[in-house]
Amino acid sequence: MPFSHILGQDTALGTIERALRTGRVHHAYRFEGPPGVGKELAAVALAQALVCTAGDPLGCGRCDACRRAAARSAGRPASPLHPDVQIVAKNFYPAAVIGRSRDELTEISVDQIRSIVLAHAAYPPHEGRARVFIVRDAEDLSVGAANALLKTLEEPRQGTHFILLTSRGDRLLNTIRSRTLPVRFAPLSEPIVRGVLRDRGVPEERHDLAVELAAGSASTALELADDEQTASRDAFVKSVLTAAAARDLGPAVAFAESMDRDKGALKDYLRALGAALAREARAAVAADPRSAGLAARRYAAVSRAVVHLERNASPGLAMASLIAELRGAG
Ligand SMILES: [Zn+2]
Repeated sequence: MPFSHILGQDTALGTIERALRTGRVHHAYRFEGPPGVGKELAAVALAQALVCTAGDPLGCGRCDACRRAAARSAGRPASPLHPDVQIVAKNFYPAAVIGRSRDELTEISVDQIRSIVLAHAAYPPHEGRARVFIVRDAEDLSVGAANALLKTLEEPRQGTHFILLTSRGDRLLNTIRSRTLPVRFAPLSEPIVRGVLRDRGVPEERHDLAVELAAGSASTALELADDEQTASRDAFVKSVLTAAAARDLGPAVAFAESMDRDKGALKDYLRALGAALAREARAAVAADPRSAGLAARRYAAVSRAVVHLERNASPGLAMASLIAELRGAG
């Protein structure tokens, strides 16, 4: 059963399943919630239920229609194999497919809405049961794209359904919000995120930090726990602490100057450093109050560095002042 694979979203799934069982599926949903908590899985499950040919109101998951709704073609675009289930997403289609001369770099263009949605939404579904458009990261819709979509979103042809997915519902135009029925998806509980990490074979020793930083998002936790990220984050934490402990200021300055990575990545790294220091402080609090105090002061310095970055300090400057503070804290 398609819905049974989605964990920790009982309220949202209850709403969707009730609509399917009573035959009152809305024509335009807005699935809102943090990234990586199952919104797209739920949208695909709903699409399966709508196109299922086995007569199961919740989708059987086994018939040819259900299988093709969930399977993707290889290559770009990675569209569902079922012709009545379509994805709308930034840069999902090669430019030529949607009549553009260049890729969509910053938004879902009006060209995509015209060629993928409007060109098809006026006709009956290819295979008879329903037509479903899944709009990923709907906050990426350009103003022109959103406006082009409004009329169809409000009064689509019988059997046509829209599912807008967003983690930034506040960024949608009010005209889009008012035409869509919200279904809220919650952050996942810690045991569920741990279960996902375990199922994917992530080594146990990486779970704590990933769960701590992921804020209930399974996809973020998996990213945080992957080999490459873990290795470069560990290297970052080590080089900051080494720089803070070095006798002469040379290595620290060189390190600060090397911090030309983008701010978003640096903030993630600093949060990881903060989490490591916070755990160190907690672990030492009974056995070694002095080192617990040091870790706590260092943790506070890292938190200030994140704030500085958010207030537009340059990465190099923020790192230089962090390293100076870490030295002072000892
Ligand atoms: Zn089916």
